[in-house]
Amino acid sequence: MVLPASLAGPLGFALLGILPAALGCTNPVCRGLEILVFLLLVFWIGWHRSQVIKLQHWFAAPDNVLPPEASGQWEELFSIGYRWRKGEEQQRHRLRQTLEQLQQAMDALPDALLLLDARGEMLWGNRSTATLLGLQWPMDRGQSLDHLVRHPRFRAFIEQGEAGTLQIPSPVAPQKTLEVSRFPLPQGDSLMAFRDVSRLLQLEQMRRDFVANVSHELRSPITVLSGFIETLQETPGCNDGEAASYLDLMAQQTTRMQSLVANLLILARLESEALPRHHEPVLLSGLIRQTLGALQEQSQSKALRIELELDDSLYICAELVDLTSIVRNLIENAISYTPAGERIRISWTRNPEGALFIVEDSGSGIAPEHLPRLTERFYRVDEGRARGSGGTGLGLSIVKHAAARYDARLQIESQPGLGSTFRVHFPKAHLCRGEVPD
Ligand code: ADP
Repeated sequence: MVLPASLAGPLGFALLGILPAALGCTNPVCRGLEILVFLLLVFWIGWHRSQVIKLQHWFAAPDNVLPPEASGQWEELFSIGYRWRKGEEQQRHRLRQTLEQLQQAMDALPDALLLLDARGEMLWGNRSTATLLGLQWPMDRGQSLDHLVRHPRFRAFIEQGEAGTLQIPSPVAPQKTLEVSRFPLPQGDSLMAFRDVSRLLQLEQMRRDFVANVSHELRSPITVLSGFIETLQETPGCNDGEAASYLDLMAQQTTRMQSLVANLLILARLESEALPRHHEPVLLSGLIRQTLGALQEQSQSKALRIELELDDSLYICAELVDLTSIVRNLIENAISYTPAGERIRISWTRNPEGALFIVEDSGSGIAPEHLPRLTERFYRVDEGRARGSGGTGLGLSIVKHAAARYDARLQIESQPGLGSTFRVHFPKAHLCRGEVPD
């Protein structure tokens, strides 16, 4: 075994010092040798101690200071330390650069990004937090966000602590609307993104107003047209032959335009009108029977079997026009898209969450890829067949919007060739007082 050089020196000195005493040598030469060895040992230890202090000072010095002069093993040790410190410094430099680039990229974003800790205190924010939220860095670091953005809905949103979005007025310019999105992070921290959506909302409002105005403006001319078509249909000379068939076609198309305009106006009302605080209780089973009566001609002409399961004690507090839209559109669709002789089942019953309105048919069904898009305006599975059925492509969109006003959810299940089931889940909160299930 080779003795390490660092141990060989002191061991050699020790042996030289101890050996004469061990051999019983007590003459002055031996004593002198012992003293010399002792002095050499003190010098050796002192020298190494001074190297350790040098190393200590050098480590405490800034990174760019060169290592001190050294010899032997210490020189090697210093050069290893130098390489290690240089590598560390380069790594730190790269990290700093990456962080700076990240900060610059975050600052270039028009959206405000804010990092919060588990207690809702602000840890970091990009430059847009100053313009959108009026924050000042680093002064606002450690402040609680809900002290700066004082909005009851926002406070509840922060406390709830889950992912989600919310629209609030901007704390620096109340005429602007901000959309807040929260992204939970590990250890209870969260990232909040604030986006100015004022322009988007303004455009959305313009679109709604435009559709509502155009629909309003079209209503009168279409009514006039339909009136004259009816008159012409009864006028001698126009009510037979080719003219009569043209007039029939014109009457059909005007009726279609009328229902299109009527549906567009219903949608415009659903999107813009606030819900009144109080509603009259509506007996949905009565409304369902009334609707079936109005559609009797269509259902009988197809010899459809209609099965009912209706709870006649179950009232719902909602606007009659909204409930009519839901019931009529779903039943009308079931009749239109179910072949002659088939079955339709309608039920209105209580369930643990509230109440459930179901329209189930054994009709053509809908392929799965269409299901997510069915409630989009003017979306149709089969353009030709849907037009032939007299539909406008707005029915299910109306149902969805009308249901959403009462926090109700439209659920669609369908299998091609087997039929479709449309369920509207109404929460307990909208069932009338005294009619809420136990
Ligand atoms: P439309 O006025 O065309 O019926 P809807 O919005 O009510 O418009 O329905 C959208 C599309 O969904 C319809 O065009 C039709 O293709 C499909 N659909 C709706 N209800 C049913 C149903 N009960 N069975 C099969 N397909 C249906």
